[in-house]
Amino acid sequence: MKALKLESWHSQPVLRDVPVPRPGPGEVLVQVGGAGACHSDLHLIHEFDEGALPWGPPFTLGHENAGWVHAMGPGVTGYEAGQPVAVVGAWGCGLCARCRAGLETYCDRPDLARVAGGGGGLGLDGGMAEYLLVPDQRHLVTLPEGLDPVHAAPLTDAGLTPYHAVRRSREKLVPGSTAVVIGVGGLGHLGVQILHATTAARVIAVESRDSARDLAERSGADLVLAPGPDLVAEVREATHGLGADVVLDFVGSDETLRTAVACARMLADITIVGLGGGTLPVSFFSVPYEVSVQSTYWGNRSELVEVLDLAARGLLHAEIVRFGLHEAVTALEQLAIGAVDGRAVVVPHTEYRR
Ligand code: NAD
Ligand code: ZN
Ligand code: ZN
Repeated sequence: MKALKLESWHSQPVLRDVPVPRPGPGEVLVQVGGAGACHSDLHLIHEFDEGALPWGPPFTLGHENAGWVHAMGPGVTGYEAGQPVAVVGAWGCGLCARCRAGLETYCDRPDLARVAGGGGGLGLDGGMAEYLLVPDQRHLVTLPEGLDPVHAAPLTDAGLTPYHAVRRSREKLVPGSTAVVIGVGGLGHLGVQILHATTAARVIAVESRDSARDLAERSGADLVLAPGPDLVAEVREATHGLGADVVLDFVGSDETLRTAVACARMLADITIVGLGGGTLPVSFFSVPYEVSVQSTYWGNRSELVEVLDLAARGLLHAEIVRFGLHEAVTALEQLAIGAVDGRAVVVPHTEYRR
């Protein structure tokens, strides 16, 4: 089969012929119907050096996957070939309390996992391939009726990550509150929809690209702004001088973090989701009183079930740009130059084939 391999850090991924994996005990082979291209793939390819992470190349890219169960190893029960599934991407030890709660991103015993702190497309082979080997059926969520793998794939990360971040701040997103979303790309456009569908907050989206600002508006943002010298004043004006109760930063640069603080109201949450590498000085007087600053990483299995349900009910819709598997490199290139609105999804199979 074909697979998009990252063979070393700082190298262009290449499409290679590799053997189709055979599922061993407990494992499931998924025929891939959608593998999203995430900006984290670009950070991974270009910004990491040997030893920076507990894992490294070579591995197949693609950590945002959905498809159909194709073959099952001994001991797998409850699934049948052709069943559409989404794949939970973080693969922890499966035994610690966090993993038992479905929060494998924060596994307490990464030393017992197949790869510490990683998963498919993150140290182990991912879904930018014809088939994806999933090490345990606990990582599969059956797709609800009416949701296809191409649209489900982005929900496993671009949907799940903002969902987890929004949920964490739910108590602050009451009627009368304001949420600011910075960066309306793959994650941000779903973040805006999730805020709209699951909270009573007013949503202000901040985005530098014209076409992505249009997407923010289609996604349900109440006000869409461009970064620039007037931005903070515009947010303050729109919030009667109070500022935002929650800021979700899907960029994470020095500039956006400065903006986040300048827009924040006392008691606000500032959540850093983007891996932009910026820093934010936090001291008694550098942020408004009782502001909480946190990063969030991905989300948990039960939250993915909720995200998929939102989508199946038409309350959440990933806007996608499709690419064939042979165009996977192009998908990443398009993402890198800001030519993708919503999510680029690599589609190795358009329907299930026995
Ligand atoms: P994307 O490229 O699809 O979207 C980023 C958007 O931000 C683009 O629309 C871009 O135009 C916009 N942007 C860039 N700079 C801006 C600025 N200064 N002001 C306003 N808008 C700006 O990327 P994505 O796949 O949505 O990922 C977003 C970030 O989140 C990346 O850094 C990615 O690595 C990270 N990420 C984090 C997690 C996590 O668990 N924390 C999960 C997935 C992705
Ligand atoms: Zn990602
Ligand atoms: Zn664990």
